Amino acid sequence: VSVRAAVAHGAHDLRVEEVDEQPLGRGEVEVRPLIGGICGSDLHYFNDGAVGDFALREPMVLGHELVAEVVRAEAADAPAPGTLVAIDPSRPCRRCERCRAGAPNLCTEVRFLGSAARFPHVQGGFRERLVVGREQVVPLPDGLEPETAAFAEPLAVAIHAVGRAGALLGKDVLVTGAGPIGLLVVLAAARAGAASITVSDLHPTPLARAREVGATATVDAREPVAAGLADVAFEASGSPAALESCVRALRPGGRIVAIGMGGGKLPSVGGPLVAREIELVGSFRFTAAEFRTSVRELAAGIGVRPLLSGSFALDDALEAFETASRPDATKVQLAF
Ligand SMILES: [Zn+2]
Ligand SMILES: [Zn+2]
Repeated sequence: VSVRAAVAHGAHDLRVEEVDEQPLGRGEVEVRPLIGGICGSDLHYFNDGAVGDFALREPMVLGHELVAEVVRAEAADAPAPGTLVAIDPSRPCRRCERCRAGAPNLCTEVRFLGSAARFPHVQGGFRERLVVGREQVVPLPDGLEPETAAFAEPLAVAIHAVGRAGALLGKDVLVTGAGPIGLLVVLAAARAGAASITVSDLHPTPLARAREVGATATVDAREPVAAGLADVAFEASGSPAALESCVRALRPGGRIVAIGMGGGKLPSVGGPLVAREIELVGSFRFTAAEFRTSVRELAAGIGVRPLLSGSFALDDALEAFETASRPDATKVQLAF
């Protein structure tokens, strides 16, 4: 039996076509995706045929930001058919050193939906039926709409990044890059008690959206950012120039959390980094616990809806990806 899916064959070659249904194994759940958010990584596969070092080497179903309905399960404690669930796209091995050290986001054997990091690639979730592990399905709390719940994955990325920053209570924060992740960091940092949140970006529309979700100030990324503005900086654009702005903006002893995957080279920030003892830490994905926290935060009303800039049917996936690639778009979703 086959189902329809949005399959990337290479750069600018996205096809909605039939793919084989996946076998349901022990400890697994078959779901019917309802909403799929298009992520920056999906857009990289679509536009460049690769995300950083991970290039497409075979056709791959995209998508990992999913809300779905349970169809059937081979797991005793699985939610009943018909239950609405958010899908945690991460399936860590639970055996490697990183997993055992409590950092499953750094698992070397992780299977992450819609990722070309491994070969064969891990096929993604923009498809009419999907099989995942029992531990990957998180039932939606009552009243949480699927369109909102589909932000669980990127919000979990932001929650993990805020965790990497340390306590934010009363701190001044800078966020470079007002794409979906930058904006979700604004929401999560505000939730964590930041005193002020300044956001920089090259485009006016994302900056307007940043103010809508709680930024206290916005700056054009082409202007030099004020020195000594912040205690903590989140670099969410992937641009080396933005990393330089972060170093400049920080007070002595400040910390930069790098989330953007620029692929470019690090700028020469060594001098100021050393003399002001600035810390630079990376932040990658999230843990299962953070994913569950994210679902709870969404149910509690953290205001992600201004980020939703469009919704398309699966058959119109190509148009959806083109729309999502525009600089004024934030989050575009597929509705199955
Ligand atoms: Zn994502
Ligand atoms: Zn592992």
